[in-house]
Amino acid sequence: MKNSNNSEDGENYSFETGPIRPPSEGGVHSLLLRPTRNCPWNRCTFCPVYKGEKFHIREVDEIKKDIETVRKIKNMIKNNSTELDKVPRKCYALVSAWIQSGERTVFLQDSNTLIMRTPQLVEILECLKENFSSLERITSYARSKTLARKSLKELKKIREAGLTRLHVGLESGDDEVLNFVNKGVTAEKHIEAGKKAIKAGFELSEYVMPDLGGKSLSEQHAQNTAKVLNQINPDYVRMRPLAVMKNTELYEKYKSGDFELSSPHERLQEIKLMIENLSISGKVCFDHRLNGWKNKNHNRLFDLDYEGYQFPQEKQLVLDLINEGLGVDESYHIDPRDKAISSL
Ligand code: SF4
Repeated sequence: MKNSNNSEDGENYSFETGPIRPPSEGGVHSLLLRPTRNCPWNRCTFCPVYKGEKFHIREVDEIKKDIETVRKIKNMIKNNSTELDKVPRKCYALVSAWIQSGERTVFLQDSNTLIMRTPQLVEILECLKENFSSLERITSYARSKTLARKSLKELKKIREAGLTRLHVGLESGDDEVLNFVNKGVTAEKHIEAGKKAIKAGFELSEYVMPDLGGKSLSEQHAQNTAKVLNQINPDYVRMRPLAVMKNTELYEKYKSGDFELSSPHERLQEIKLMIENLSISGKVCFDHRLNGWKNKNHNRLFDLDYEGYQFPQEKQLVLDLINEGLGVDESYHIDPRDKAISSL
């Protein structure tokens, strides 16, 4: 969103933000900045986020101006400036919440910041660090294909310049599932990219999408995703169960009966198979409300915490929780086949 607002005195008190961020970078935790707009791939059949929007890499000077504006708004808030009414509400709210949380983290939007040329990205990271000395973490989404294409030397340069954590949409480690949803990447590329990111020193979050292969590909989706994750050994595995959204190709397949979603118990069985085969030493997180299974008391089954469950120590705990969820009548769980979910 271009939070545009030039005041009468010609001063610019707005900076641009994009539509989404990972939950772990949400709330009051991170300042949002938008070096690129939309998605350079934009063809995954389950994803409605940037449909119809053109990908664009913004000019470095424009992004630097946004950083300068954030600094200006920050100082205005700290000095209780009488000019604060000139700052667009959204920009004010973002900066204000960021100040309250200690000005520690920045999330770079939109879907694949790493596609920027390395010197440009490094310049932005350096500018951020120069302006905000309190920063502890700068994070971004990245596509595996782009990560694999960058040299290790370039990735290390970006890491050294201050980008600390990458959020990658793995979705599946099964080539048939990846091909079915037109993810534009293979399991092998995911492994190459993930390993390279870790070697370059990034903290790595891999997003997995339970039920992405529907009923028919469930078993291979679970087993091959575990295999790929074991090879990468990311810091975080984050579960994002599939919600079939309107305005996507997958929704059309679902509606026509060509794609069959699993039931809540079948989804849990799929996750169970994945977890049983998982031998990572990172954390497994269920930090999204679509992980809506219930325990025997009909409360939330999994902890929504961004730090999740530490593996391998808490692997058995997760398996015990899954077994508990499987013992609960299906009607208590969120059902992905409900129309309500399909139109989220
Ligand atoms: S790469 Fe990510 S943002 Fe782009 S279409 Fe696929 S899921 Fe959506």
